[in-house]
Amino acid sequence: MEYGEFLRRVPKVELHCHFEGTVRAATAADLARKHDIALPTDDVEKLYDYDSIYEFLKIFALVSSALIDQEDFARTSYESLEDGVKLGNLKYREMFFNPTLHTSRGVPYKTVVDGLVDGIHAAEKDFGVRCRLIADVYRQDPPEQAREMVEQVLEHRPDELIGLGMDGAEAPDPPEKFVDAYRLAKQGGLRLTAHACEDAPAKNITTCLDVLGIERIDHGYHVLGDDAVVQRCLDEGLTFTVCPTATAVCYFDPDDLTKHPIREMAERGLKIMLNSDDPTMFHTDIGSEYDRMTRAAGWPPERIREFVLNGVDGAWLSDDEKRTMRKAFEQELDELQAQLDQPARA
Ligand SMILES: [Zn+2]
Repeated sequence: MEYGEFLRRVPKVELHCHFEGTVRAATAADLARKHDIALPTDDVEKLYDYDSIYEFLKIFALVSSALIDQEDFARTSYESLEDGVKLGNLKYREMFFNPTLHTSRGVPYKTVVDGLVDGIHAAEKDFGVRCRLIADVYRQDPPEQAREMVEQVLEHRPDELIGLGMDGAEAPDPPEKFVDAYRLAKQGGLRLTAHACEDAPAKNITTCLDVLGIERIDHGYHVLGDDAVVQRCLDEGLTFTVCPTATAVCYFDPDDLTKHPIREMAERGLKIMLNSDDPTMFHTDIGSEYDRMTRAAGWPPERIREFVLNGVDGAWLSDDEKRTMRKAFEQELDELQAQLDQPARA
């Protein structure tokens, strides 16, 4: 087996993927037609072309505005998981969604969550993939709105909804802004994560750990700017959910992943696992993310195995579930590795 095929076929956990960023362009166009919403281009291929996080966030909001009925959310979450399975052998995902992106334009919170859960159940039935949900605070929202969102989540929380996260542009709105929302979520039994240090210095990780009480970091690249914070993350075994392409498009060079900070994070021993972030919106998928980043970094199969299993470790499943998943993954990895052309070259 060729290395690229191996990378696509290794079993995967994904802990950093935004539901709204997984909508297929053709489906977005379909739903826009259904609800009479104008998109900036009629060319589906060009819908997801941009080169900064600010432009990206605009399209992200526009595509989200075409999600209105419960069945829209069900269809898109189903397709999102189908793509993960077919393009990257996805087994388990903890998927972000932004409640206020939908509720602020009049879609009831319950419609959003129930639709997502419908799609998750249907995908599990058809493909065996499992998925849990993480409600994300949108950083550009006022703190009161974030707190109200958490109240809503706690009032209507299907078993699939397990955590609170935070996304949006980081530099203008630091994590401490949302301490109330995080405190309430913790009291309510939600697991906690946050996007940090994608576009801001390492001190945001310290704030997330000490003030918000987070258990994982999404992105985290600028941790490399502070050796003491790196050491702390190593000591605490903190999981970093890193995303090659989306971050490269927004902040680095999308055509050259050899300089991506993920590489140095891995070299320094930080506990990373790979993710697709907003796959359709960045013309990628979880299989491609493994392939492109691995080739750029020159990682051998043993390292891929380590990153895959970091995903299992970092998941918010019970210890029993993680043991079972780890065993199944190890077996599948052994089988795939045995079929790999030798010597495997990245
Ligand atoms: Zn993200």
